[in-house]
Amino acid sequence: MNFDTLGLIPELLQAVAARQYATPTAVQAEAIPAVLAGEDVMALAQTGSGKTAAFALPLLQRVQEEMEEGSKQRKVRILVLVPTRELSGQVGQTIEALAEHLPKKLKVAVIYGGASINPQMMHLRGGADIVISTPGRLLDLLDNNALSLKDVATLVLDEADRLLDLGFADEIKRILEQLPDKRQNLFFSATFSPAVKKLALGMLHEPVRIAIADLIENLPDIAQRAIAVDGDKRTRLLVYLIKEQQWERVLVFVATKYASDTVSNKLKKAGIKAEAFNGDASQGARQHMLTDFKANRIQVLVATDLAARGIDVAGLPAVVNYDLPRSADDYIHRIGRTGRAGASGTAISFILAEHEMHFRLIEKRQDKRVPRETLPGFEPAAIAANQTDSEASPDAPTGGIKGKRKSKKDKLREQAAKDGQPG
Ligand code: AMP
Repeated sequence: MNFDTLGLIPELLQAVAARQYATPTAVQAEAIPAVLAGEDVMALAQTGSGKTAAFALPLLQRVQEEMEEGSKQRKVRILVLVPTRELSGQVGQTIEALAEHLPKKLKVAVIYGGASINPQMMHLRGGADIVISTPGRLLDLLDNNALSLKDVATLVLDEADRLLDLGFADEIKRILEQLPDKRQNLFFSATFSPAVKKLALGMLHEPVRIAIADLIENLPDIAQRAIAVDGDKRTRLLVYLIKEQQWERVLVFVATKYASDTVSNKLKKAGIKAEAFNGDASQGARQHMLTDFKANRIQVLVATDLAARGIDVAGLPAVVNYDLPRSADDYIHRIGRTGRAGASGTAISFILAEHEMHFRLIEKRQDKRVPRETLPGFEPAAIAANQTDSEASPDAPTGGIKGKRKSKKDKLREQAAKDGQPG
């Protein structure tokens, strides 16, 4: 399968080639022809699945074909709703890059909250062809008559589950009311909880359903590791891993803003170029950090899930779960940040004894066991106390469930193995 069989015009194929996309990803192969044909689409697709180009390429083609030659006033034909400022910027950049060779120039407006509204209003003067926006700020601009949505031909909901998680249900409803009834709808979500399904089914018309199997199956190059460790040894373990593994960049996930500050400060004290990436930093500061991270001026970003949402850094070699995520879906999102589009990556989770059961649920969801490891010098106290010397040696085989005392079942299995019976 390659891009020229999907019905795209040469100018877009040129942009695809310039970005060095060799073959369409699964979601692209299915979505591009459907979107070109004007169908509604409901796709299960995570960050990293190539979903942005999956909707951007065919929509650019359609808007190009429909654009009136020489008209000065631009009408919003495509509206992309996104959950975060970061994602709005990334989607905007991708669309601009893919549109580069198109004969009729398009105006793209990227709109987000948390920044001054005036420049955005100025930019919208004379209209725009494509608007990418977070919901709250879009409503502010609509209230100010800074734009009109009555000519929107296609609505895209990008990361719909996250839009709902962030409490944008009412805003989306109000925006939908301002859109023409007859329009194309594209719905992308990494998960389909009942609430997400309800939103999808309420707005989609006989959608083409694109169910990309688990992210894990699509990106088999993510090596998952789980290291059993005590809470108070985690920072030392992180420093050790960063030095030992020599990752050029690593994204570390923590549970709270406070943890992102304290962990990044401790890394700095250990001589590592680290920054806290959380909602306390201004939009400008966060953009700056991302640029520095991509340019290898920052080695480690210590991020909360919310702030890290949609961060797209090509070639991220590793992700560390310093704190486990709350849900299995978040886990899949987090580890999907590494091993992007074919490149290999490592995802390491720190497992505290009290979180062992939680990690098992995460494993169950992806139908995959991740062997527990212990690293010499970082063994959890409960294990170290039980350990014989041979087990503590660095050559000891890893695996088994070492984050926790042996259960009755484990003891029975061990006994069975010794007795030469199948375990
Ligand atoms: P997305 O899922 O849209 O956030 O895209 C994830 C990453 O994959 C981005 O860095 C894209 O530039 C890249 N990408 C998108 N489509 C392809 C493709 N067909 N081949 C290789 N990389 C791609």
